[in-house]
Amino acid sequence: METAFFSYMPVKPLSESNPMDAKAPITQDVLTIPRKLPDGPRNLIGLSRDQIRDALIVAGTPEKQAKMRVGQIWQWIYHWGVRDFALMTNLAKDYRAMLADTFVIALPEVVTRQVSDDGTRKYLVRIAGGHEVEVVYIPETDRGTLCISSQVGCTLTCSFCHTGTQKLVRNLTTAEIVGQIMVARDDLGEWPEQGAPKDETRLLSNIVLMGMGEPLYNFENVRDAMKIAMDPEGISLSRRRITLSTSGVVPEIARTAQEIGCQLAISFHATTDEVRDRLVPINKRWPIAELLDALRDYPKVSNSERITFEYVMLDGVNDSDEDAQRLINLIKGIPAKINLIPFNEWPGAPYKRSSNNRIRKFADIIYKAGYASPIRTPRGEDIMAACGQLKSATERARKSKAQIAQETGL
Ligand code: SAH
Ligand code: SF4
Repeated sequence: METAFFSYMPVKPLSESNPMDAKAPITQDVLTIPRKLPDGPRNLIGLSRDQIRDALIVAGTPEKQAKMRVGQIWQWIYHWGVRDFALMTNLAKDYRAMLADTFVIALPEVVTRQVSDDGTRKYLVRIAGGHEVEVVYIPETDRGTLCISSQVGCTLTCSFCHTGTQKLVRNLTTAEIVGQIMVARDDLGEWPEQGAPKDETRLLSNIVLMGMGEPLYNFENVRDAMKIAMDPEGISLSRRRITLSTSGVVPEIARTAQEIGCQLAISFHATTDEVRDRLVPINKRWPIAELLDALRDYPKVSNSERITFEYVMLDGVNDSDEDAQRLINLIKGIPAKINLIPFNEWPGAPYKRSSNNRIRKFADIIYKAGYASPIRTPRGEDIMAACGQLKSATERARKSKAQIAQETGL
């Protein structure tokens, strides 16, 4: 069964600062915080093996030993899930003390954790600067999928998506992206006692970059975080079990194939440029034909099987039989699966969800053309597990407190 975990957020008003408006070039005008804070110990989470090696040498580790120390520390952190240098018992005591003085192993802080009747878990995690992002864990019979975020907010403004309305956008650091996986494994109690379980028997067996943000506008940090997650001596998730979802940042698609090699999902959502311009405004920059050209090479270069086309079902907008037929014609030649997502309505949303009958009819046309066309079923509805909901609830709570303060003069 397919899952649903997406953002539920109001439409961002078009503004001058919005890169999708007017003719402004698309920029990545977002805050990026440095990996190393100016003072204090450096966080080892998020550093590559080479970066840890360099840092250990600067901290006095003899060059000849550095590679071995990296291997040992890496295993403690990413295989065993250890956070305390004192427990790294295959390192000399004074070396452990030096590590504890120089470095930290720091993860985002879990602010709230909710568990749905159906087993879906939702975490609200706090990162530097007091920002909050959501992480959703969805258990299924044959897998457990973690939906993680790549940015706080999103610079893009898809008109059906609530995330695009958030004013503040900041790229998550590599540590904050890997950290989401680690806090979920903590909660699931999935650091191995002896040896790592095989992918298919793990509670957390799959990752989807489908939370907040456009992952390809934070390419380097997403790539480096996924490299850590895929490292065979650590979390060790196969690249086949990681899916990156993009709205269609065409120039980064080839790089994703070459430098990450994960599965790719495309927020396609429309079959004409006219409609896609409205739904996914990045289409004005990279229209459907250019996007499809970039996708044709993806399976070969990344050695992955097929591309997932995500298609949100919006009543009377993109859900006709003609749309289904056009979709089939457009993706001809691309190994594909089409995920139909019933639109998650939110207050003030300018669209309605297509009827179940319409969705089934659409799915049928695609299925008859030879494509898998699963309809995503929402999960964790009782805890509002669609990404973005809890955060907006927190923001509302804050706002009303501020309003109360204003009204009462306190
Ligand atoms: N920014 C990336 C990944 C995050 S969104 C992207 O756009 O691909 C994950 C998926 O949820 C995307 O396909 C997105 O279009 C979809 N989505 C966003 N808001 C939604 C809503 N209200 N209802 C249904 N799907 C939605
Ligand atoms: Fe939402 Fe993804 Fe569009 Fe950003 S790119 S506004 S997260 S659908």
